[in-house]
Amino acid sequence: MTDRMKTYDLTIVGGGPAGLYAAFYGGLREMSVKLIEARGELGGRLLSYAEKIVWDVGGVPPIRCSALVENLIRQARTFEPTIVLGQRVAQLERRGDGTMVIVSACGQRHATRALILAVGHGAPGPVRLDLEGAERYEAANLHYASAAIEPERLRGKRVLLSSSGTTSSSVRLEELAAVASRIIVVSRSGGEQLGRTLAASPGALVEARAPYAIERLHGAGERIEAATIRRLDGGGFGERRERIEVDEVVVDHGTRSEYGPLSAWGLEKSAWNFDADARLATRLPGIFLAGDAANFPSKLHLIAGALSDAALAVNGAKKYLDPAASRSAPMSTGSPLFAGRNRALEL
Ligand SMILES: Cc1cc2nc3c(=O)[nH]c(=O)nc-3n(C[C@H](O)[C@H](O)[C@H](O)COP(=O)(O)OP(=O)(O)OC[C@H]3O[C@@H](n4cnc5c(N)ncnc54)[C@H](O)[C@@H]3O)c2cc1C
Repeated sequence: MTDRMKTYDLTIVGGGPAGLYAAFYGGLREMSVKLIEARGELGGRLLSYAEKIVWDVGGVPPIRCSALVENLIRQARTFEPTIVLGQRVAQLERRGDGTMVIVSACGQRHATRALILAVGHGAPGPVRLDLEGAERYEAANLHYASAAIEPERLRGKRVLLSSSGTTSSSVRLEELAAVASRIIVVSRSGGEQLGRTLAASPGALVEARAPYAIERLHGAGERIEAATIRRLDGGGFGERRERIEVDEVVVDHGTRSEYGPLSAWGLEKSAWNFDADARLATRLPGIFLAGDAANFPSKLHLIAGALSDAALAVNGAKKYLDPAASRSAPMSTGSPLFAGRNRALEL
């Protein structure tokens, strides 16, 4: 049996404050723990305000958020959990013995007896075109987030680039412009500026249209052959709609956090996040919530709330696996788990 398919007592999805504290607390409850995070680094939302000073975590003096993340990670590693980075959990399977296998978007499988979803607002993914059926072109010539496209794919091609005008990937776009034969930039705002930037780089013939948006994609099978773009302000004397023959469509509308396939697992959802009871249990056996992903009447959308949720969710998972287990962990001050560690710290 490979380590990949070792069945862990507890798997935690999400490496923000809730997931990190759950990893520590799961060790405290003597469970084998795996933590899976979609991004390449731990810290969750805290990474988005890493330079800010946080004042409202109990017992912690005002602290730069990046330092708080370091502390949370150090604490999470206390009992040496397995940590997997860069995998977005997507699917859930149940095995005959009641254990679960969760499957990442990349296809990797992880077996577990209990699960805590500490997924915050979800994992970041590209903002997709809001056009019915557009997803069928994604395997061929509809690309999201220009940063992920190899410029060689666009060599000599006619490219339609839909930009939000606010994303900061123009350096990468210049690389694409250097190999494409023609680029039409459409944007609700700011497209002309981007067009000027791209036109200044050697390579493609660049035209910018703003305020414009893609209205329709015309395809044969799974490939886009043309697109209709529409002027949004109704101004000017020319046509408000234009059909453009294209080889590749690139959409650079930034990123947005979303739950994606987790929303189809059958969890209850009466708000934007998932419903939990006071012990952070969901209606799915063995699956618990913690942190911003959890919705219950007294939910505190703060780091302090995430930490409290994590301890409750781990206790719930422990009782689920072993109904005879105590409701909560022994206090760390009296726990024999720390005797050796305290001596090592010379405390
Ligand atoms: C600008 C800002 C300032 C804030 N300031 C404060 C403050 O001063 N004090 C305070 O207490 N709180 C503050 N908060 C709130 C606090 O950051 C959140 O309450 C806290 O981060 C919630 O932690 P979490 O672990 O539940 O979720 P998150 O921190 O959002 O972490 C969730 C993690 O799950 C991962 N994930 C999601 N889906 C998947 C998946 N399918 N597979 C794998 N991984 C996945 C995500 O990539 C992410 O890393 C602030 C929030 C913001 C936005």
